Amino acid sequence: MEGIVDFIEQDTEEARQECSRAIEVIEGPLMDGMNVVGDLFGAGKMFLPQVVKSARVMKKAVAYLVPYIEKERDELGLAKMSNGRIVLATVKGDVHDIGKNIVGVVLSCNGYDIIDLGVMASSDKILSTARDEQADIIGLSGLITPSLDEMVHVAKEMERLKFDKPLLIGGATTSRTHTAVKIEQNYSGPTVHVIDASRAVGVMSKLMNEEDRETFVEERRDEYRAIRIQRREGKKVKRLSMEKARARKFVCDWSKYQAPSPKSKEPKIFSDYSLEELVGYIDWSPFFHAWELKGKYPAILESPKYGKEASTLFEDGQNLLDRIVSENLLVAKAVIGFFAARSEDELVRFDGTEFHFPRQLVDKGSNETNYSLADFIAPSDDWLGLFAVTTGHGADELAKTFEGENDDYNAIMSKVLADRLAEAFAERLHERVRKEFWGYAPDENLGNAGLIREKYRGIRPAPGYPACPAHEEKDKIWKLLNVEENTGISLTETRAMYPAASVSGWYFSHPESRYFSVKYN
Ligand code: SAH
Repeated sequence: MEGIVDFIEQDTEEARQECSRAIEVIEGPLMDGMNVVGDLFGAGKMFLPQVVKSARVMKKAVAYLVPYIEKERDELGLAKMSNGRIVLATVKGDVHDIGKNIVGVVLSCNGYDIIDLGVMASSDKILSTARDEQADIIGLSGLITPSLDEMVHVAKEMERLKFDKPLLIGGATTSRTHTAVKIEQNYSGPTVHVIDASRAVGVMSKLMNEEDRETFVEERRDEYRAIRIQRREGKKVKRLSMEKARARKFVCDWSKYQAPSPKSKEPKIFSDYSLEELVGYIDWSPFFHAWELKGKYPAILESPKYGKEASTLFEDGQNLLDRIVSENLLVAKAVIGFFAARSEDELVRFDGTEFHFPRQLVDKGSNETNYSLADFIAPSDDWLGLFAVTTGHGADELAKTFEGENDDYNAIMSKVLADRLAEAFAERLHERVRKEFWGYAPDENLGNAGLIREKYRGIRPAPGYPACPAHEEKDKIWKLLNVEENTGISLTETRAMYPAASVSGWYFSHPESRYFSVKYN
């Protein structure tokens, strides 16, 4: 229950000697402990990091017991016990697996059998595995927006292939609404959106329980039907014609504005950037969010609810980060470049290529602005910066080492930290761009808090985000900066960046450039 693994093998051996069979150590003390942890977690009295640490105790103890259990099973013909079997996968085109891995840990320590298909799993692979392994449930995960469509595809395939097993949907861009509107209608079996790992066990146990299942599934169907009706009957947003939206574009008097010219115009490649330098640029709040502790750093360390857990987690994170930095366990690579650019409607043109930045078409009122990122670039003689950074080289290897030691806690931690370093690298490089490489804000002096609050001049929108949702624009960034060759970041078919701990986008220098959303809802 405390998640302490220091003497796990000795303790497990001691327990084994007190039991008549090794399996009893699992069925007895280990499950008893996990049940308490599960109940406290379900009741919101224990939090995810502690659960993952307790799961680590379980996993290490089980690993120690397995040879004994297998021997007994051979001798006594015991059946393998399981509360149910779930196939988990990050869908095709997506490489993000922190959330999926957390769910896998939480479920497996609650006695579920996990078949984890890893990342970039095709519908074929997921469904044939589910069939062959007679899975009770299929769980799909994904982070980037194209994965939402891939999940719809899997749901349609399940219908076509006459599956009837429950389909669970999870991941950062998924939502109850998306599940209700886009996924559930394509599949006649039970479909459930799982908001976070803390809900996964509850959902699984309802679905696996003969008595609860029907009511639970009916409730979900009603809930999703209500969401669909609400959306259908809700106020339709009024859309403007492109012509009218352009009439409300962001206007700058370009005759009075001189776009700054970059100090160094050659693309710059960073092949092994100092990790140590990046540590001070980390935004720690998302670190806690990744572990499902909600709040802002540093206040979260003092939070009455999460403070104790957050402090322990922070210390564990710092310790692993120190190791990563001192032993160079991750490699930071980046490339940036500046291009003479001019805008025309929603296009930003260079020699040989153009980016398309969609315009907001929602009718917000005649005094409001309907932005396109192209509005922040002058019709002539301006500049646009491009960047791609990664701190993900080495992250999978590091996580694998921990997984090999039955240490999912540190495996997940290393990926969370790699993501933090990637964002920190993007922040640090953007700062150096403003101060040195583009050089339009040489005297800026903001500090970490000011950087996180984006107090600086200019923005760095990222393809796939609300102002520029098309991931395909990355293809042009990759070509112009030769990103794959220069940094080793590749793009999947839906343009997820691999390694996962990578960030790419554009630099805009205009003082009034800002983030917005071109989506309608
Ligand atoms: N401090 C945060 C920084 C990442 S989130 C962290 O460490 O996680 C902020 C980034 O998301 C921005 O720098 C930008 O690249 C992207 N972003 C946010 N809102 C956006 C929008 N509306 N359109 C495009 N990109 C956006």
